[in-house]
Amino acid sequence: MPLQINDSEFYAIDAHSHLGLRKTPLGHGVASFLGDDLVRNLDEAGLDCAVAFPLGASYTDYSEANQIMADEMAKYPKRIISFCRINPNFGPEATARSLDHCLGTLKLKGIKLHPEIEFFDPNEAELMEPIYQAARRYRVPIIFHTGMSSKASPGVIAELAARYRDVPVILGHMGVSEYVKLAVAVARQHENIFLETSVVGWMPLLLEAFRGVGTSKILFGSDHPYNPLPMEVEKISKHVAKAAKLKPEDFKKVFADNLLSILHHDR
Ligand SMILES: [Zn+2]
Repeated sequence: MPLQINDSEFYAIDAHSHLGLRKTPLGHGVASFLGDDLVRNLDEAGLDCAVAFPLGASYTDYSEANQIMADEMAKYPKRIISFCRINPNFGPEATARSLDHCLGTLKLKGIKLHPEIEFFDPNEAELMEPIYQAARRYRVPIIFHTGMSSKASPGVIAELAARYRDVPVILGHMGVSEYVKLAVAVARQHENIFLETSVVGWMPLLLEAFRGVGTSKILFGSDHPYNPLPMEVEKISKHVAKAAKLKPEDFKKVFADNLLSILHHDR
C-alpha cells in the first residue's frame, strides 16, 4: 500500500527505524523487534521501505546486532535497508575491523552512531576518523542521534563532518528541540549535512527546518518502533505539509529521493 497524500501516491522510505533482540526492554520499552514486525507496520502505514539499525544496548560492540541487521535485510531486500551500529569506544582498530566486516562483507548500507548512549565525543578525531574513512571508502552515509545531550549537539558533530565533505552526514531527530536551530545552521553551512524529522515535535521548530534548509536536505524518519509510524508520517504529510505548503515534488524528495541519492540506491 503506497503512501497517500492528497489523493496522490508516493513511494516512501523511513530513514530511521530500529531492529533487534534485547534481553530486557530497557527504558525504551522495546525488547524484540525484527523484520517481520517492521514490514507488517510499514504495510499498515503505507510505507515501502525503511532504513533500520540496531536497538541501543548496554555496553556492546554491536557485532551480534549487526549480524541480525544483515539477516533481516536478506529476508526483506526490498523493504529493509540495514545500517550497522558502531560503538567507537572499542578503539580505532576495532572500529576499522568492524566496519570492514559490516560494510564490506555484510554489505550493510550505512553507519549509525549514538553519542549519548555510547558516550563518546563525535569530534574526537582519533576515535572518529576510521568511521569517516570507512564511510568514504564504502560510499555510505553516517546517521547520528542528535539532541538530548551536549555530546549529541549538531555543532560538535559538524566539526569533523566539515572535513569529510564527500560523506553524507544525517542529523537524526535534527536536534530534537534545543538543538534544532543549530542543526538548521550547520545543514545550511555544510553541503553534506542533512536533517531527519523523527522525534522533533514542536511545529515552529519543524517549520524553521523546512524553511531554513529546504526540502532537498530533509529526510522523513520515524524512530519506529519507539514512535508509531502513522504519528510520524502524519506529522509531515498532514501538518508540516499544510503549514509549509509542501508540493508533490517536496513529498517525493523528503519521503524518498533525498535518501535514495545519498545511498546511491534505486528503488
Ligand atoms: Zn532511533
